[in-house]
Amino acid sequence: MTGCFRRSWVRPAVLVACICALSPALIAGDAAAWVDHQMDDLVALYTHFHQHPELSFQEEQTAERMAEELRAAGCDVTTNVGGHGVVGRLRNGDGPTLMLRSDLDALPVTEETGLPFASQVRAINEDGDNTGVMHACGHDVHMTNLIAVARYLSAHRDEWQGTVLLVGQPAEELGAGAQAMLEDGLFERFPRPDFAVALHVDSFVPAGMVGYRSGYSLANVDSCDITLKGRGGHGAFPQGCIDPIAQAAQLIVDLQTIVSREISALEPAVVTVGSIHGGTKHNVIPDTCHLQLTIRSYSPEVRKHLQEAIRRKALAIAQSFRAPEPVVEFDEGTPSLFNDERLTERLAPVLMEAVGEENVVRADRSMGGEDFSRYGAAGVPIMMYKLGSVTRERLSEYAALGRTPPSLHSSKYYPDIRLTLRTGVVSMTAIVRDLLPVRTP
Ligand code: ZN
Ligand code: ZN
Repeated sequence: MTGCFRRSWVRPAVLVACICALSPALIAGDAAAWVDHQMDDLVALYTHFHQHPELSFQEEQTAERMAEELRAAGCDVTTNVGGHGVVGRLRNGDGPTLMLRSDLDALPVTEETGLPFASQVRAINEDGDNTGVMHACGHDVHMTNLIAVARYLSAHRDEWQGTVLLVGQPAEELGAGAQAMLEDGLFERFPRPDFAVALHVDSFVPAGMVGYRSGYSLANVDSCDITLKGRGGHGAFPQGCIDPIAQAAQLIVDLQTIVSREISALEPAVVTVGSIHGGTKHNVIPDTCHLQLTIRSYSPEVRKHLQEAIRRKALAIAQSFRAPEPVVEFDEGTPSLFNDERLTERLAPVLMEAVGEENVVRADRSMGGEDFSRYGAAGVPIMMYKLGSVTRERLSEYAALGRTPPSLHSSKYYPDIRLTLRTGVVSMTAIVRDLLPVRTP
């Protein structure tokens, strides 16, 4: 891709300790004790990922490290699946196939956490701009968790049976990496999963807790570009012009009536105009005005209705101005994330057993998006759950100040890594044990 950025890759001085060195008596059947024993090494691995973030579709070094770690954990590893995608296959006899997925990419955000290991990385984004880069969405946590789970499963083959696919997916933040991996044969070149599970950190759920939701969980995400056309000229003589800025002003207001007047109040939907660009000077009427929208929904029907209505409104306003037909373009976005109901209901008690009933919450629906949904849309039962990542103490401090804690994608977001990782590894290994049970002869 254009604007590909390369930088030096600093290897950590201390290699992660081999789990084989641990006493089996200490670790057998006790993921919490195992992960506590590994914690310093896992935090070092997390810190490494955090300090070396790479933008979407530029995850070359990140993928290399993932591949190396999965190989060291005993996986057969295939690289460059759909870009920088990594697939590690861990086989342990006959049985179902479970896919566990982490994302690899970071965001064009300049870190402001003040942490001693804060990212200093800068890169060139796809528009050619120089930007700070940060794991502001916790994908560094997801990667560390996935590697820890691979190590645990490799060291505890007596606790499960079947095949685990450990997938490092590129470009989640663009909503494009899952599609790229699927188009590159993820479900044909490797065993087609019977289930796929992923977690995502949450900045509002306390560390130590997890959240799950059956059914619709995250939204359809679509982008729309509208170019309103006119006839430019002198701002003092509008009668000889067709003003695209006046069209845009009316359209922005009119778009808001789609959700409020055309969609049932019981159906989630959002239309947001996030960008408007037109004109150069006080006294010049431009030829065009460009709007950029994000559109969110859950159901396919509402998604289709929103797109049709946006097109209709833009066309109607242009006609009312005697303007040329506007250009209205939709990017194929991310489909809504639907957690398979049977799988989720099966795994909810597993999560409760693993981390304690009091530490499991039913999550709210969100209008955010995640392209893990594409694996579900491709016919595999999926479940993505939330991993709390901020300690109760820190959440209480924010509450006392009457403020919400920094959200994901904020330059100030950071997880409380030890408790977060512990909960991630304990919950995900419990899920593997449940979905890939040992068969007694
Ligand atoms: Zn994100
Ligand atoms: Zn994310």
